[in-house]
Amino acid sequence: MNMKIYVESDVEQGNAGVSRIAVIGYGSQGRAHALNLKDSGFDVTVGLRPGGASWQKAEADGLRVKSPAEAAEGADIVAVLVPDMAAPGVWRAIESSIKPGAAALFAHGFNIHYGSIKAPESIDVILVAPKGPGALVRRQFEEGRGVPCLMAVAQDATGRAKARCLAYAHGIGGTRGGVLETTFAEETETDLFGEQAVLCGGVTELVVQGFETLVEAGYQPEVAYFECMHELKLIVDLLHEGGMAKMHQFVSDTAKYGDLSRGPRIVNEETRERMREVLGEIRDGTFAREWQAEHEAGLPNYKAMLSADLNHPVEKVGRELRARMSWLKSDKQAAA
Ligand code: NAD
Ligand code: MG
Repeated sequence: MNMKIYVESDVEQGNAGVSRIAVIGYGSQGRAHALNLKDSGFDVTVGLRPGGASWQKAEADGLRVKSPAEAAEGADIVAVLVPDMAAPGVWRAIESSIKPGAAALFAHGFNIHYGSIKAPESIDVILVAPKGPGALVRRQFEEGRGVPCLMAVAQDATGRAKARCLAYAHGIGGTRGGVLETTFAEETETDLFGEQAVLCGGVTELVVQGFETLVEAGYQPEVAYFECMHELKLIVDLLHEGGMAKMHQFVSDTAKYGDLSRGPRIVNEETRERMREVLGEIRDGTFAREWQAEHEAGLPNYKAMLSADLNHPVEKVGRELRARMSWLKSDKQAAA
């Protein structure tokens, strides 16, 4: 496979004619994009609900703030950086303010891919998705580096959609890290699969089942917590920095033999079958419809499942043990 990775020299002179950018939403991604784009010389307006919590924060950061519809007016790129379930409503409020020939930009393909946002034929529909949280996108930019991004074009009304993706990715620092081309379908489906099967869903379930297995067998919950939750970070850091090779280099021979001989019995062909099922539900739209219906119903199942997760014994023992490890950052510090 030879994937083209776009870098700074691939960006068109004059940033493909993009000068005015509206950033709708001022959360994790919105804040980072707006500040980086402004520092890169773009004329940035942030679009927020009047009276909302982020308005003052964006102004204090030195940005011009207007209502979402007013911010979108006359912009060359309108970046919709609000939560997936809020985006269709935000879209209805801004749609008629987006000028023909402008581009609507997303950081995740969900709403375009599943059809809950339908853009008019007169505009470009593009995606720039940094592969990291907003705080990292901002910090790396300030340090002269950049978080790699994915980019995609769903609709090229102007013939300049791709050049605009690169101009925007460049403005947030993405071309320093490299910009990889994908499609809305690939970005959306792999992003959902990753968070469901491996990153959020898979990992937490592995931790909880491991913890429960030890506690049920009579071991102390505190010891089980250290083994199944706390030490996960050591392993993840090694994988992140140097793949399996680095992990193998730093764990004992005994750990390695246990990994190689026992791991495939824990996560096995049956797990793979469940992964295929989950991927199937992502691809045929079952998951998206279920999540939208859950959201419309006021999140009854979501709230119940979340509360069960947060009240699990692994959370109680975890809070007590983490309080004794003063070097662990508080949630607030970690997010900043
Ligand atoms: P967030 O939850 O941090 O922020 C959302 C912001 O949207 C809020 O701060 C608020 O300013 C605004 N908002 C919320 N509801 C609104 C409404 N009804 N009307 C107007 N504004 C509203 O979201 P985020 O994590 O920055 O995600 C934004 C987009 O970026 C999503 O599409 C997400 O999938 C994508 N993305 C996120 C990450 C990440 O690491 N967080 C990474 C890549 C892509
Ligand atoms: Mg879980």
